[in-house]
Amino acid sequence: MNEFWEAKVKLQWAELGSSYDVVIIGGGGHGLATAYNLAVNHGITNVAVIEKDYIGGGNSGRNTTVIRSNYGKPEPVRFYQRSLDLYRELEAETERWVMHDERGLWWLAHTEAGRRQERSRAAINQAFGADTTFVEPEEIGRLIPGINLDADGEFPITGASFHAGGATARHDRVNWAFAEGAMRAGVTIVQGVKVTGLTLDGDRVVGVQTDKGDVAAGTVVGAVGGHATTIASMANVRLPIRTHPLQAFVTNHYEQTWDAIVASNDLGFYVSQTARGEMLGGSHIDPQPSYSRRSDHHFINEIARRIVALFPFMGNLRVLRQWTGICDMSPDYTPIMGYTSAPGFLITTGWGTWGFKAIPAGGEAMAQLIANDETPELIAPFSIERFANDRTLADRGSSGTH
Ligand SMILES: Cc1cc2nc3c(=O)[nH]c(=O)nc-3n(C[C@H](O)[C@H](O)[C@H](O)COP(=O)(O)OP(=O)(O)OC[C@H]3O[C@@H](n4cnc5c(N)ncnc54)[C@H](O)[C@@H]3O)c2cc1C
Repeated sequence: MNEFWEAKVKLQWAELGSSYDVVIIGGGGHGLATAYNLAVNHGITNVAVIEKDYIGGGNSGRNTTVIRSNYGKPEPVRFYQRSLDLYRELEAETERWVMHDERGLWWLAHTEAGRRQERSRAAINQAFGADTTFVEPEEIGRLIPGINLDADGEFPITGASFHAGGATARHDRVNWAFAEGAMRAGVTIVQGVKVTGLTLDGDRVVGVQTDKGDVAAGTVVGAVGGHATTIASMANVRLPIRTHPLQAFVTNHYEQTWDAIVASNDLGFYVSQTARGEMLGGSHIDPQPSYSRRSDHHFINEIARRIVALFPFMGNLRVLRQWTGICDMSPDYTPIMGYTSAPGFLITTGWGTWGFKAIPAGGEAMAQLIANDETPELIAPFSIERFANDRTLADRGSSGTH
């Protein structure tokens, strides 16, 4: 048996202890990637990840798996490009097959203003390291199978940006690649344990309270997706986050290979094909803030009309499954990472509808911050202080869904 399989066989669930150097609340992609990087790259292994449900049971196992770096501002383009590059290496690095598939992403424009926006997206992407070019409608018609370029006259396509690095990866495999890698390196991961409070010594956070007992910690990281404000409020930290549901669906198998990822900001949807051949789609967040994970008919009705106008072949497919996650939306559509006003308490949040693609770079940067007690340059623009300092990074046009 080789070293890898021996390590796999030895993989065991540990009991939650009473004291750790670092406690990470939340076993989603960001919490797990932070733990993985702490252990593997910095030798910090006295780490616990505490998950109330199951690994990847939050948004990291509910997303539509799109990975891209075609953002509209220099700071996010650089950050997401780093993540995109790390995704390319993830299988080799973790020795797990994460079904990474780089097939390019189309971002469609339907108006003259949209066309200008996609031209400027391509220019800014190229300037800051992402591979995006502007494409005219004739070429779009040639390269995207089954597209109806004039969308029955209602939403004619006026151009697109093509982001060559756009990719997908299987979400639960990504979560487990980080979880197993972290456990192999000595991190404790517990499922079914809920953090119910934070232990304070003055302003400082010195531990967590759980439904299975108290745990002391040198550093506590809140990586809880849509529950970010609840956890932060336990440290008397107020976050500019609202939690909104986001829905998605898959259809039955479509017999042809459809090797594209297509998004339209104007029509508010995006679609790709899964490895099983299902068509996978998503749209905007539900406008009403809520913690509800219920899916509804209104969503399917709306999105189906828009998708079928552009891709008539989808009118012959049937929706098989529909689901919902709850997204931690920041006001500027950009993450919030790093220190908070409570010493000992760090956050990685504001991942909203776009944080799956950020998991490798987010985990890498949070671990660097904790290990070196210094904010890495790559994530310095994402500090919570940007709101007080009037340095927000409004990037709505690039968030895909809003
Ligand atoms: C339908 C949908 C489609 C999406 N599509 C994309 C996409 O295509 N591309 C993209 O980049 N992003 C996408 N996203 C966004 C992306 O999934 C998230 O931004 C990302 O997964 C966030 O990861 P996380 O680790 O911060 O949070 P999560 O994965 O939500 O993990 C947080 C974890 O914290 C746990 N937790 C909460 N409270 C407690 C507590 N008190 N104690 C212990 N544990 C707790 C939760 O159970 C959860 O498992 C999508 C999201 C949804 C919902």
